[in-house]
Amino acid sequence: MSEFASPPATATGAAPPRSGPRSFAPQSGFSPWKDPSQAPIVRFDNVTKQFGDFVAVKSCTLDIYEREFFALLGPSGCGKSTLLRMLAGFEQPTDGRIMVQGKDITALPPYERSDVNMMFQSYALFPHMTVESNIGFGLRQEGMPKGEIAARVEEAMAMVELKPFAKRKPNQLSGGQQQRVALARAIAKKPRIMLLDEPLGALDKKLRQQAQFELMRIQESTGTTFIIVTHDQEEAMTVASRIAVMDKGNIIQVATPNDIYEAPKSRYVAGFIGDVNVLEGKVSGITDGVIDIEGAVSGCHYKTRSNEPVSIGQQVWLAIRPEKVRITHDKPQSAINVVNGKVDDVGYLGSISHYHVKIGNGQRVTALRANTAMTVGPPISWEDDVWMDWPTEAGIILTS
Ligand code: ATP
Repeated sequence: MSEFASPPATATGAAPPRSGPRSFAPQSGFSPWKDPSQAPIVRFDNVTKQFGDFVAVKSCTLDIYEREFFALLGPSGCGKSTLLRMLAGFEQPTDGRIMVQGKDITALPPYERSDVNMMFQSYALFPHMTVESNIGFGLRQEGMPKGEIAARVEEAMAMVELKPFAKRKPNQLSGGQQQRVALARAIAKKPRIMLLDEPLGALDKKLRQQAQFELMRIQESTGTTFIIVTHDQEEAMTVASRIAVMDKGNIIQVATPNDIYEAPKSRYVAGFIGDVNVLEGKVSGITDGVIDIEGAVSGCHYKTRSNEPVSIGQQVWLAIRPEKVRITHDKPQSAINVVNGKVDDVGYLGSISHYHVKIGNGQRVTALRANTAMTVGPPISWEDDVWMDWPTEAGIILTS
């Protein structure tokens, strides 16, 4: 571990939900978590962390596999940094075990966890040292021979494209360049597992997006297992092979970005990842995997295909992503999966528009429509009376 690094700054608040997903599989076909013969590189086994009476992490069990780019995602204060800091050895679990490559490391101090290295949000660069000297610092501390240090520093600088800045001091670099120095310093130690706590927190949106792709490139080219903490759902969706969504010290769902988006397990996850419409109702029929729902809005009936074990009369919620909702002036032929209302707000975003429609119970339902010449019918505007419908496959049934 890099004992010279200072603790991470606290990130503030969750990012506003956005539409998604815009992710792609960073390592296409890579899914060791589905292979029972694969052993995890990291295992959190029933790990709890209390600070006095406060439980920051509650009985978390989680497996992370070699070469994964794993994201811990959740709002501020949900316990994601604490989980990462326990893996780094900066915090001791109150209960449970942490295993790395099958070995129990729970009691090991940070400097004996040679497989893991952490890059902090605050970068923690030495102001009086040049870029190359900062990058080589950890290696000098280890007593590595000079020639090997020089080669490792050169390699790390090339990887993050910092060679032209080798002789500069941190105050002669931009925020993004400083972040790359911190990353190069962590890479130079060639850890098997890289821990990144809000590594891009100090960058503006554009730089942040560039840096996300840089991180993915470095992660793939080095084959290192990356575990990133972020409160930015879009960032997690972009970089991660899998995401653990956390809330109040609990891991709520662990899945690929696509599954988190398309098959969220609860209203919390559905609402945290992207925009979603959630319609309340009661199960009124179950036939061959198709569930009928009597909507809480009078006269509304929904149908969805699901294997979720539900019973007649059970209260459920139907989640539908805005891009799956069709909006028209004309009443659809089918009366199923249809809501009617008045356009309350229109958001023009260039290539697409968002339509917020107030339905019978005062709830707003959002639809997205592409602004292409292909769009049929007259334009939809404020105060228009509209119909919204969606296919049976689009609704996700949620029981909590
Ligand atoms: P953020 O995104 O804001 O960094 P987080 O999800 O990473 O949030 P943690 O830093 O893990 O959250 O903190 C989880 C909870 O534990 C918070 O309520 C925090 O106040 C509390 N906590 C963390 N460290 C300590 C500590 N040393 N003593 C007491 N409480 C702590």
